[in-house]
Order: sequence, then structure tokens, then C-alpha cells
Amino acid sequence: KSSGRGTYRRFNVAMHAQLQAHQQIKIALRGALERNEFELHYQPLVSLRSRRVTGCEALLRWRSPERGMISPSEFIPIAEETGLIVPMGEWILAQACRQAARWPEHVSIAVNLSPVQFKHRNLVKTVADALSASGLAPARLQVEITESVLLDESEHNLHVLQELRGLGVKIAMDDFGTGYSSLGYLRSFPFDKIKVDQAFVRDLPHGKESLAIVRAVAGLGESLGITTTIEGIETEDQLAIVNAEGFHEVQGYIFSRPLPASEVSKLINGQL
Ligand code: C2E
Ligand code: MG
Ligand code: MG
Ligand code: MG
Repeated sequence: KSSGRGTYRRFNVAMHAQLQAHQQIKIALRGALERNEFELHYQPLVSLRSRRVTGCEALLRWRSPERGMISPSEFIPIAEETGLIVPMGEWILAQACRQAARWPEHVSIAVNLSPVQFKHRNLVKTVADALSASGLAPARLQVEITESVLLDESEHNLHVLQELRGLGVKIAMDDFGTGYSSLGYLRSFPFDKIKVDQAFVRDLPHGKESLAIVRAVAGLGESLGITTTIEGIETEDQLAIVNAEGFHEVQGYIFSRPLPASEVSKLINGQL
């Protein structure tokens, strides 16, 4: 009984610490945009056929003076909860398009969109403004959404996706395979790209189930005419498998980690 009570107490202490961290991040996040604490890093996407960089994904970084580098998986959920993701998302789109406009024309830019951004009427205008301010050709911008965008308020969100598509922007489904009913969503919207989540890569080359799923998605992409990308490739063994299965594109530490703008530009220009 006494040990039970001790466990409960430890649990409480841990919960309290977590809650406190959450609160602190929430407070620090307010004004972080104005204080210029955000930065975009860019991770190359490499075509398996040409072995060249075909695009980069913009990944948000937060350098907090008090807390150091904070991972997006820690602060994006809080930014979503507070609605701060909306002005942050505008900055991300503008910044990413401006950066990509300096790259060679065959290199595209992928930007992650939060489901919360879809709740705001001006998402389409935000995207259109980022394109016109930067002069980036719309077809060079890919927006990445997760299944949750089609989960709630799907009618409205589908309409927004259609409007984005109308601008000439490409639409990618991110983290494919981790949501609820992936396959059905491929019927509700004609995605340009499927990005398989890194969860399916981790246990390759030995995981039978992962291999079967990876193979099925490559086949699905082939028959639906959708570009297939796989994230989180770290080893030569993993690369060999996804190459053999017919994926079009990979993203992962084996080629490059996400890099600051100046470094990714060097990498892109170095292969010209
Ligand atoms: P995501 O969009 O699925 O991005 C891929 C994540 O996988 C990135 O983590 C990237 O650094 C990581 N990654 C890439 N290759 C490898 C690899 O070979 N091995 C391993 N272990 N990891 C790899 P990151 O940058 O920490 O971002 C995490 C998530 O945060 C993103 O997942 C995305 O959902 C969200 N996020 C990041 N930037 C933004 C943004 O600008 N806006 C929104 N709304 N969400 C963002
Ligand atoms: Mg992504
Ligand atoms: Mg992903
Ligand atoms: Mg992910």
C-alpha cells in the first residue's frame, strides 16, 4: 500500500513538471515570432532515379533564449492549441517561398500545414500572397497535410484543398500510414504525392509487416499515378529496399539532415 502511494506521488510530481513545462513553453511562444526566434531549416528530397535533389522540406526550428533549441513536436501542438500557429504559418509560408525562389527552377519546396490553419478563412489567400510576394511558380510549392485535415470538418477542408490546387500548388499527404483509415482518403482527394511515415522504415530490412506495407504503397502510387516518397531513410539497406520497391523519392539522414538555408543552397548548387 505504501509503495502504491509512493508511485502515485511520483506520478503526480512527473505530471506536475510536465504541466509546468507546457505552461512555460506556452508563455515563451507568445512573442517568439516578433522576437525573431524562429528559423527554417531545409531537408533535401532526393529522386531515386536521378539521385538529385528535387526539392526540400521546410522544417521549423525555435531557438528560445531561455530554453535553447526546442523540437517542433514539442511546441507545434502548443502553437495549435493557442492559435499561434496561424501567424506562425503565415511567416513560414512567406519565408519558405522567398527562399525557394532563389533555388534553381527544378527544385521545389514542401511546407507543412497544420489542420488549425484550415479553420481560418484566409489560408488560400495566405498561400497566394506568399507565392506572389516571392514570385515562386505555384507548381514549385507543395503543401503537406496529414490525414487529420480530412478527418474533422472535412467538407470545408476539402474545399480549401481544391482551392489550393486551383492556385497550381501541389498537395502531399504526409505521415501516410499512421492515421486512422489512410486508404479511404486517397479516394476523397486526388493527392499529388504520398509520403510514407518513417515508422515503416525503422525496422527495415527485417520487418516483414513494414516491408509488405511499403511495397503496397509503392504499388498504390504506381497504379494511381501518385508520386511516392518515403521519410526517415538512414541506412544503405533501407535505401536499397525502397529503391527496389519502386519509390520515386526519399528523404532521410542518409542524404542529409535538415540544414540552414545557406548550407542547403550550397548542397543544391554543388550538384548543378
Ligand atoms: P514531418 O513533416 O513528418 O517531418 C519529418 C521529420 O522527420 C522531421 O522532424 C525531420 O527532421 C525528421 N527526419 C527526416 N529524416 C530523418 C531520418 O532519417 N531519421 C530520423 N530519425 N528523422 C528524420 P522535425 O523537423 O523534428 O519535425 C517534426 C514534425 O513537426 C514534422 O514532421 C511536422 O509534422 C512538424 N513540423 C515541422 N515544421 C513544421 C512547420 O513549419 N509547420 C507545421 N505545421 N508543422 C511542422
Ligand atoms: Mg512533413
Ligand atoms: Mg512526415
Ligand atoms: Mg512526421
